[in-house]
Amino acid sequence: MQVFYADHFILPLPAGHRFPMAKYGRLRERLAAEWPAIQLGQALPASDGELALVHTPAYIGAIQHGTLPPVAQREIGFPWSPAMAERARRSVGATIQACRAAMSGDGMAANIAGGTHHAYADKGSGFCVFNDVAVAARLMQAEHARTHRARGPLRVAIVDLDVHQGNGTAHIFANDSSVFTLSLHGEKNFPFRKEPSDLDVELPDGTGDAVYLEALERALDELERRFEPDLVIYLAGADPHEGDRLGRLKLTFDGLEARDRRVMDWAWQRRRPLAFAMAGGYGTDMEATVQAQVNTYRVALQYQARWAARSSTETGTAVTPA
Ligand SMILES: [Zn+2]
Repeated sequence: MQVFYADHFILPLPAGHRFPMAKYGRLRERLAAEWPAIQLGQALPASDGELALVHTPAYIGAIQHGTLPPVAQREIGFPWSPAMAERARRSVGATIQACRAAMSGDGMAANIAGGTHHAYADKGSGFCVFNDVAVAARLMQAEHARTHRARGPLRVAIVDLDVHQGNGTAHIFANDSSVFTLSLHGEKNFPFRKEPSDLDVELPDGTGDAVYLEALERALDELERRFEPDLVIYLAGADPHEGDRLGRLKLTFDGLEARDRRVMDWAWQRRRPLAFAMAGGYGTDMEATVQAQVNTYRVALQYQARWAARSSTETGTAVTPA
């Protein structure tokens, strides 16, 4: 399974900053050490043209040159530096490459960071600079349109199970019927002004495994009734975990793993390629966040093996959505 990373572009943060930047490097180390079936690849930076499929040129330029007004920079939550701009581009690039790999026969692929769903077309927020998933969805649609002109747009379902609402993604695709946005999130959690997704499921503080998994089941049923995706992009946030500082929910490791399995199985049963990004995770113990993420990869590898077995027994290996 191909997995893309950009954590070696260090985003310098002041001492004591609350974002656990080290988790990405730690996740990469563990994947490299524990799962030889994972091929780790360096992410390429997304170009201005790719970013502009979603973001305004003024915002892209302000991030590139460090000219955002201080209030807008504070809303992102990271200080500006050339490395911050580079890293943000690479993180989008990693999701793009994961989507391409999933779409071109692999069936499953991932970004070890990304899922920066609070970024809007013209502003960042909540540790999100660019909206990697939105850019990747639009770019996959553009690439698909070039080769499958007569078939209509590629249909993308974004399944956002980070504990925070995918407000930026919901806003970007508010009037786009070719992208379905689903968000399961904490009702009382950030962002406090939510944007309507195609399907929002709000969960009360303290929600545990059973209630969460039932809600997910109902949401996938409704997604099924309303939309038929060609590509699924999954935000596998680790922040619904009970050990998360910011999550306010009470999922166990087993609950999170059952969640990942449900989404990946849903896509596999329909033979829809799935790319995933890690999104949030702010464990009181960072190793708990990384463990939840490693568990996501364990499940993903099982499904990717099914795709690989399928490709080797069929003549055409590329996924060509109708
Ligand atoms: Zn989150």
